[in-house]
Amino acid sequence: MKATIIGGGIAGLSSAWFLAADGWEVTVLEKGDLLDNCSFGNMGYLSPSHFVPLAQPGVIGQGFWWMFSVKSPFYVRPSLRPDLLNWGWKFIRASTQGHVDRSARPLTELLLFSKHLTADWQHSGQMSFEYTEDGCIMYYQTAKKEQEELENARIAADLGLKTEVIDREQAQQIEPDMRPDVRGGVWFKDDAHLHPNSLMRQLPQLLEQRGVKIIRRAEVTGFSKAGKSIQSIRYRDEKGDHTISDSDVVVLAAGSWSPQIAGMAGEHLPLMPGKGYSMTIDTDRQRLRIPCILLEAKVAMTPWQTQLRIGSTMEIGPINDRILFPRVQGILEAVPKFLPGITDDPAFRQLADLEALKRDLREKVWFGFRPVSADGMPYIGFAKKTDNLLMATGHAMLGLSLGAGTGKLIAEMAGGKPTSLDMKAFDPRRY
Ligand SMILES: Cc1cc2nc3c(=O)[nH]c(=O)nc-3n(C[C@H](O)[C@H](O)[C@H](O)COP(=O)(O)OP(=O)(O)OC[C@H]3O[C@@H](n4cnc5c(N)ncnc54)[C@H](O)[C@@H]3O)c2cc1C
Repeated sequence: MKATIIGGGIAGLSSAWFLAADGWEVTVLEKGDLLDNCSFGNMGYLSPSHFVPLAQPGVIGQGFWWMFSVKSPFYVRPSLRPDLLNWGWKFIRASTQGHVDRSARPLTELLLFSKHLTADWQHSGQMSFEYTEDGCIMYYQTAKKEQEELENARIAADLGLKTEVIDREQAQQIEPDMRPDVRGGVWFKDDAHLHPNSLMRQLPQLLEQRGVKIIRRAEVTGFSKAGKSIQSIRYRDEKGDHTISDSDVVVLAAGSWSPQIAGMAGEHLPLMPGKGYSMTIDTDRQRLRIPCILLEAKVAMTPWQTQLRIGSTMEIGPINDRILFPRVQGILEAVPKFLPGITDDPAFRQLADLEALKRDLREKVWFGFRPVSADGMPYIGFAKKTDNLLMATGHAMLGLSLGAGTGKLIAEMAGGKPTSLDMKAFDPRRY
């Protein structure tokens, strides 16, 4: 049996991994060179703590006010583009408490399932990517955020997740660089983290060793369908146009580019790119112990053995390579509001030199496009109008967390096996 996967991000490569393990002959078509995509420069969190889908009550109101601040972490670029209007309408309709209540449990199950599969990759000894089960701490400075996070911790406990509420003193014991006006935090103990660049560098090598064919710089340009089935996939590389015509199953895992490719097969996939930025410094003395999110600023920080990454922002809008300097500035300014000691790190000081940063923006700031579905839940499963097309996309800010689990479920569905989890909440045919 032959499978062709479109896209070599974490969703595509994980699907390739589990399909190959089940004996499929797998080809991956990737328009880039597999040295960068959204799955590389992210924060590396595996986040069962993020059991609330992005579409949730309050997100619209908060987002509306944030749109008036150039440094805000969330932004929707206003436009009358039909894809944005369609997505926005669905997103608003999905942002209800009922949706959150229905989604939290399946999302948690998928997050935990996926985390264990990712841990297996590291523990099998075949790959090494700094997988660490230290949890993640959500720090707050205001009573409002504290209240919201305590409520999250309560729901997390109902879902069977382990949390610990830490007070001001404990926060300072954990992170001696913490400002005394940080009220405390909630430590989500089931969270883990890894070094995504290392994982993404090793996966293609191992896949190729296992016989997976990866065709780099191969951009999918169309399909030929016979009835409800894809008969052939057209792609273009530097040598010209080509066709693959013997795939039993096609997996669409093209991240933020997926809607256009789905459209080529006559499918409607409501999804918008959500651009985010990260900056990574090399450090010989790690000043942060535990990965954390600075809640008021929505800034995330991840420590690895010799690096520290700081990231944030969600700009919903078209794919482009513009870096909005005020938002990058907003990320960097948030750090000393919680952890002023980090500014003693010469590498951080160098990064936060705004004049130098402006000059070298492209080298110092990474950006990627999260594939944001219309209800904040991933699309994993068969397409509506095409019998042999499986979707593996729409993971928004959880693509790394859900990558391995997505791949395993795709392999199960492709093989017509019973799935490890109930797939209803992730069914792409819901739209
Ligand atoms: C700042 C930031 C921080 C984040 N932090 C986290 C985190 O801590 N934890 C977490 O779980 N998630 C995080 N995310 C989200 C996560 O990175 C994404 O959800 C994930 O990388 C999406 O993976 P993907 O495989 O779906 O897409 P991508 O990684 O974007 O891969 C899609 C691939 O498809 C290819 N492609 C597109 N069109 C075509 C075509 N026509 N033909 C062939 N190939 C094509 C692209 O070149 C690309 O390589 C973060 C994202 C950002 C931006």
